Formats: sequence, structure tokens, C-alpha cells
Amino acid sequence: MAYDVIVIGGGPAGLSAAVNVRARGRSVLVVSNPMEESPLWKAELVDNYLGLPGLSGAELLERFRAHAEQAGAEVRVGRVLNALAMGDDWFVSIGSDVESAKAIVLAGGVTRAKKFPGEAEFLGKGVSYCATCDGMLYRGRSVAVVGYSDSAKKEAEFLSSIGCTVRYFDRPKKCEIQGGDKAERVICDGQEAEADCVFLLRPAIAPTDMFPGIAVENGYVQVDRNMATNLPGVFAAGDCTGLPLQIANAVGDGLIAGQSAAKYVAVLAKKQ
Ligand SMILES: Cc1cc2nc3c(=O)[nH]c(=O)nc-3n(C[C@H](O)[C@H](O)[C@H](O)COP(=O)(O)OP(=O)(O)OC[C@H]3O[C@@H](n4cnc5c(N)ncnc54)[C@H](O)[C@@H]3O)c2cc1C
Repeated sequence: MAYDVIVIGGGPAGLSAAVNVRARGRSVLVVSNPMEESPLWKAELVDNYLGLPGLSGAELLERFRAHAEQAGAEVRVGRVLNALAMGDDWFVSIGSDVESAKAIVLAGGVTRAKKFPGEAEFLGKGVSYCATCDGMLYRGRSVAVVGYSDSAKKEAEFLSSIGCTVRYFDRPKKCEIQGGDKAERVICDGQEAEADCVFLLRPAIAPTDMFPGIAVENGYVQVDRNMATNLPGVFAAGDCTGLPLQIANAVGDGLIAGQSAAKYVAVLAKKQ
């Protein structure tokens, strides 16, 4: 199905964007990793969000999600790998599925992990970010999964189910991928595994990997006052755009990004 807007990330920024896209009568899909794995879910007490003191991060997120769903947003669990523009449409890869939209709101929070040595060099040559997309290419072979979430374990189970011999590394601190023309092995926290493919399954993917060419400064996506990035139809909101990394700021950014995305879609519709 084609949506007006796809929001990447179901935190405060993304859900606020979704509510405001719906307020302008546009369709919106929010794609996010499981909410229980988000950083805010772990906050025991959030005491500085106006009007709702004394709630835990999980309670607050549940309320935000319920509000977005009541407003008519579709909220789907999934991990966005990348997005590609074709004409006026954006095609977004969600695991092995693809959805399209006229505008995107990127609200994936901060990407804390730095790339491992060998990761960029072997990407597409024995390094993958998606087991369900690329697993079949390595059917019956030895692979390694470097996982940072419970959903990563499910992707490792999928690889086992298609006959791969899987070595699982659970949230290692340091890894290095080595090989020749292709990746051949990975060493994580001093433990080595031979692998024809190393699946790096982090919850967040760097904006520059999702959107080649997106402008970033000091690790944050660059936006203007309308939360527009340098890519046509792509807006960004919340922690991924910079300080202060706070809920109220993310919600405000989400409002502007959602409104801007809806306006962008309306202008496109008039042209057609
Ligand atoms: C322990 C803790 C306590 C905190 N306490 C407070 C507090 O008391 N007050 C306060 O104001 N702030 C607090 N914060 C900060 C606050 O949580 C953040 O500022 C806020 O959540 C940012 O919202 P966001 O929507 O930009 O990003 P996030 O809340 O990080 O949401 C982004 C979501 O997008 C998902 N995502 C990322 N990439 C992808 C992808 N490629 N595909 C699918 N999904 C993706 C992430 O998994 C995540 O679920 C706290 C943070 C932590 C970690």
C-alpha cells in the first residue's frame, strides 16, 4: 500500500509526527523496532514532561502510541534498512518488505554505535544488516550474527531454520571483520568465528546508511526550521537532529516535521 507519509521510529518524535500528519488528513505508517527495546522504555521515572509527571518511560510511550493509533496512524513493528527515491516516491525497505510514501519523517533517535573495523569494507560482500533479506544467499553455510536486541535472536533462529550454522554474539563491545575479497571471519571481544556472512543486527541504522547523501553534522541530521533535510520529501525530528536529547523537544520537533511532511504531500498532490 502507498502511504502519504512513512515515519521511521516510534519514539516521542515519530509518534508526535504521526499525530500531526493525521491531523491534516493524510495517511501515515510508523515503522519502529519493538517499543520495549527503545531507550525511553527503560526510564523508571520521567518527571519533566509537562502535564504528565510521575510516569515511567514505558507508561509515557504507551500513551503516545495509543494517541497515534487513535488518530488513525498505522504502527508497525519492523526495522527500516534503507530508502530509495524514484520520481516523487520514496521506497522504504522494512526487513524484506517494501512500502512507499510521498514523504518521510526520520525519527530514529541517536545512533550510538560506531562502525566496526571491516564493516564498511565488506558491506554487501559478506556483511549484511538483515538476516531475513540476505539469509537465503548463505543457506547451508557458516554465518555469524552480532545481535543487540531480542529481535536479533529471532533473525538468528531464522538463519538456523534455513540450514545455516550460526555463531551468535550477544551484544559484544568490540568486533572486527576480516577477510580478503569477501568477509571470512569475525572476532568479537577476543572470540573468533569463521563466517561467510556476518549479520550485524543493531536496532538503529545510521541515517547516512538509510539515506545515502543525507547531510549530517557531528553525527546529527541537519535540518532547517521546518525540520526539512537536504533530501526532497525527507524530514527529521527528535534526538537524531541534535541537542537537547529530551522528550519535550522530540515531541515539538515531531509536530513541525509532521506538519511539514503533510504540507509537502499537499503541494505534490496539487502539481499532479
Ligand atoms: C534511561 C533514559 C532516561 C531518560 N529520561 C528522560 C527524562 O526523564 N526526560 C526527558 O525529557 N528525556 C529523557 N530521556 C531522553 C529521551 O528518552 C529522548 O530524548 C527521547 O526518547 C527522544 O525521542 P526520539 O523519538 O527522538 O527517539 P527515541 O525515543 O530514541 O525513539 C526512536 C525509535 O526509533 C527506533 N528506530 C531507530 N532506527 C530505526 C530503524 N532503522 N527502523 C525502525 N525503528 C528504528 C528506535 O529503536 C526507537 O524505538 C531519557 C533517556 C534514557 C535512555
